[in-house]
Amino acid sequence: MFKGKDIVPLKEREMRTIRGNAVSMIFQEPMTSLNPLFTVGQQISETIRLHRGLSRKHAREHTVEMLKKVGIARAVEIIDEYPHRLSGGMRQRVMIAMAISCNPELLIADEPTTALDVTIQAQILDLIRRLNEEYQTAVMMITHDLGVVAEMCHRVAVMYAGKVVEEGSVRDIFKKPLHPYTQGLIKSVPRMNEQHRRLFSISGNVPVLNTQMKGCRFAERCQNVMPLCLEKLPELKEYEEAHSCRCWLHETPKEEVV
Ligand code: SF4
Repeated sequence: MFKGKDIVPLKEREMRTIRGNAVSMIFQEPMTSLNPLFTVGQQISETIRLHRGLSRKHAREHTVEMLKKVGIARAVEIIDEYPHRLSGGMRQRVMIAMAISCNPELLIADEPTTALDVTIQAQILDLIRRLNEEYQTAVMMITHDLGVVAEMCHRVAVMYAGKVVEEGSVRDIFKKPLHPYTQGLIKSVPRMNEQHRRLFSISGNVPVLNTQMKGCRFAERCQNVMPLCLEKLPELKEYEEAHSCRCWLHETPKEEVV
């Protein structure tokens, strides 16, 4: 769903007007997402020319502007470089420049800092936050890093085996997680002040997703599993204000929970 509209049935031609324009994406490995055979300038201006219909000259000027916007100081030189000549952080900036070149309403960032070292990670996250605040671009951040979630997000949807199992404000998710999987995730974060504790881990493995699953997908690993959990998949339901969870535990009177 995008802006209340189901975009799955759209024709490829219609999707092309949304993709890269109203919705764009930053991937986790900038080296494999950029085409090694074209300069970064060619790759960014292709998007601009396609969606904005600008001339080659104007698209190049707009590309330089975009590269500056994402903090690349030598934009006029970098525009003619091939991706392999740039560092990981620079490449990710180029990817972001490409993603925001048509001023998207939604930017999907899929593990945007995983392949980067910690200092560059912080710079890229700062840049994404600035885009969100200054240009009002909505950002959907996909990450397994709870530190990044706490730092960057307003609302969080926790997914397990392809289903959203909990959704709420970042504060609610960290302060009072409702789903056993979220509770396990938060418990497994190492704490600076607890150096001698053995790190908690959720036992078992993620289910194989191409098999037919019955009941709650987390049941095999859940310490609170009940017979009902093995039979029926719970719905995602709002149990507190703007805080939803997919778990039978919150439907069952406390005395019935073993
Ligand atoms: S529905 Fe049951 S198995 Fe699934 S998370 Fe809740 S208590 Fe655990």
